[in-house]
Amino acid sequence: MLPDIERLLELQTADQEIRKLQEEIAELPKRIAGIEQKLAGTKARLEKARASAKADEANRKKFESAIQDLQSKISKYRDQSLDVKTNEQYKALLHEIQFAEQEIRINEDRILEVMVNVEVREKEVKAAEAELKAETAEIEKEKEETRRVTAEDQQKLIEWNAKRDGLRHGIDGDLLRRYERVMKFRGSGLAEVRDHKCMGCQVMLRPQIYNEVRNGEQIVFCDSCQRVLYFDPANEPKPEQVAEPVRQKRRARPKADAAQAWFYRPDYGEAGEVLLVFTNANGSATRCIYDMHSGRQLGDVLNREGNYRQAFPEDLTDTAIRLNGFWEEEEMLEWGLEMPSSALDVLHNDLRAAQREHDTPHKEHSTASV
Ligand SMILES: [Zn+2]
Repeated sequence: MLPDIERLLELQTADQEIRKLQEEIAELPKRIAGIEQKLAGTKARLEKARASAKADEANRKKFESAIQDLQSKISKYRDQSLDVKTNEQYKALLHEIQFAEQEIRINEDRILEVMVNVEVREKEVKAAEAELKAETAEIEKEKEETRRVTAEDQQKLIEWNAKRDGLRHGIDGDLLRRYERVMKFRGSGLAEVRDHKCMGCQVMLRPQIYNEVRNGEQIVFCDSCQRVLYFDPANEPKPEQVAEPVRQKRRARPKADAAQAWFYRPDYGEAGEVLLVFTNANGSATRCIYDMHSGRQLGDVLNREGNYRQAFPEDLTDTAIRLNGFWEEEEMLEWGLEMPSSALDVLHNDLRAAQREHDTPHKEHSTASV
């Protein structure tokens, strides 16, 4: 592994730790604010319950003093009744007394009502007070915990930042800038390559890119996500799992005169990686193109005179790799506009076998020839 890659891997760890710590530090005050908001709600409820209790008390006093007033009125009427001259005057006073007595009963009922209310209010006030006490204790604990975690995080942040600065000094400036740009937008600036794929964006690599990453002699970037690519031999599938069947059974060579011929092209214009299938029949050739990864048909089926080598020379470039694969015409018609994954797997596996053969020192099976 290149020393720059090793340093970048360490730098990526530092960058990700720093980001995590910064997020955690930013999150803690929000948690406190949430509890404080709840606390404010409880406080408001307590205030309201206390205000209601106070209003009840005021009402009770008002009704009591009304009763006292009415009672003194009644005794005044009784005194006056001793001095009345006529029956009419006496009746009028009696009527006033009855009216005042009725008013007293109404006020007594109101006091009773208030007293029932007071009991409910007292319970409300007590509950809100207890809640407030518990929440205050909780928030103090949370605040203490937050202060502790924040202090710890800040200490760690200082350490990671120092480590990060040290690592950055040892890395080539251009490489560092590219790494940091991708890191900023994607949360990681490096990606491992496994099984011909960039693990950052899951896109299959072109064969020569894959080989360059594996060789580890130069810095290679992923074409689709721009991450710096690296290969870790420790994560490569064990040779006995993969290489054994390949070594025992050599890949069959595609027949040059087959009526149906499959090719892989890593660089087919805007489509990128494609699979092409040519069919020779009755003096003419047809061509159909599929997307390498989705298996979806690209464009229309073309038909030209002559065999496919004569009819479609522009497709058979040096980068085209001939693949093993044959499906009956009826079966292919049933596919419609998309190859089934079973067919796609057959061609992918054969492509991998062809690339492995190409990588081995035995060069007699040059897969680039068509
Ligand atoms: Zn990628």
